Amino acid sequence: MADGTDPAPGAAQVDRAGRSEGAAPVDEIRLTGLRVRGHHGVFEHEKRDGQDFVIDAVLRRDLTRPAASDALADTVDYGTLADTLAAIVAGPPYDLIEALAGALVEACLQVCEDAEVTVHKPEAPITHAFADVAVTLRRTRAEAAAGSDSGERTLRAVVSLGANLGDAAAALQDAVHALELHPRIEVLAGSPLYVTAPVGGVEQPDFHNAAVLVETSLPPRELLAVCQGIEVAAGRTREVRWGPRTLDLDLIAAHDARTGAAVTHDDAILTLPHPRAAERAFVLAPWADIDPDASLTTVAGPQPVRALLDRLADAGGVRRTATPVRVPTGASGAGPAPGGDPV
Ligand code: ATP
Ligand code: CA
Ligand code: CA
Repeated sequence: MADGTDPAPGAAQVDRAGRSEGAAPVDEIRLTGLRVRGHHGVFEHEKRDGQDFVIDAVLRRDLTRPAASDALADTVDYGTLADTLAAIVAGPPYDLIEALAGALVEACLQVCEDAEVTVHKPEAPITHAFADVAVTLRRTRAEAAAGSDSGERTLRAVVSLGANLGDAAAALQDAVHALELHPRIEVLAGSPLYVTAPVGGVEQPDFHNAAVLVETSLPPRELLAVCQGIEVAAGRTREVRWGPRTLDLDLIAAHDARTGAAVTHDDAILTLPHPRAAERAFVLAPWADIDPDASLTTVAGPQPVRALLDRLADAGGVRRTATPVRVPTGASGAGPAPGGDPV
């Protein structure tokens, strides 16, 4: 994460050991033998019955700082990393383990500069005695960036951000920066920060919320995987649903960037539009700041986001601050809305 402790990916630097700019980090975090049931494969019975996949991940990043500080915040929490990788393996099926490995390595690159992922498929449908079949993908952020130029931005999506632990405002800002650093994501606009009373019945501190509009060449599920990787990088653990968290990124709605047609998705991993967006002022208010004419597809058809917001009883529970989420130069941040009045 860009929290001032890590250099930005690709940043020119010579580290303490004298390794020069662009050199791969020599330190490693290894998570091996992560066994998760998934439904990947080209055969119908593989998709139906599922089988075990075993994942090895090697994350290369400079561990000088955590080695000296002994602080979890300075390194990758391998528990949450395992949760994220396991969720991808258990998620919607890919035909090829190459594609599964691609999604996994993409998630790893959110928390390191250089990652290697091996997907083993020890129960693969091979009619001979065999020990294992596996594919390994090794990627660096720099390579991912270089390969991204040809990627046409096909998807425009609204991402809602929330946090209520630690320095929540900084966590949101870091998350926006992390989205922008992704080679296949561009942040087009950001809302002001909001302070929001928690909903969902769990006693906890107020939330900070915001929304950003992004354009990406990633398909929706991979965009979600990137968001989940950013949550992991911020130290997110999944404990109480709707409970306190360091960072939560939800995909709210998406459109085809070329035609403007709404993109929907409905499987175990991703529902688009987000099924609870219409009843959440902390989602709708920042979204309306970025795009006052936005509409959300609900069971009653497309509804203007502003009209949905006006109908919500808890709209008074969200307070717009004068602090805009900073978006990169060139992007049109919404900034504080006209008048700057709290919503
Ligand atoms: P809520 O979804 O009500 O805001 P939450 O954000 O606290 O709750 P999480 O624990 O962050 O819930 O996510 C639960 C699961 O929701 C994730 O594993 C993810 O796969 C799934 N999910 C489905 N649709 C979406 C979406 N549009 N955006 C984000 N996550 C989604
Ligand atoms: Ca959420
Ligand atoms: Ca979420």
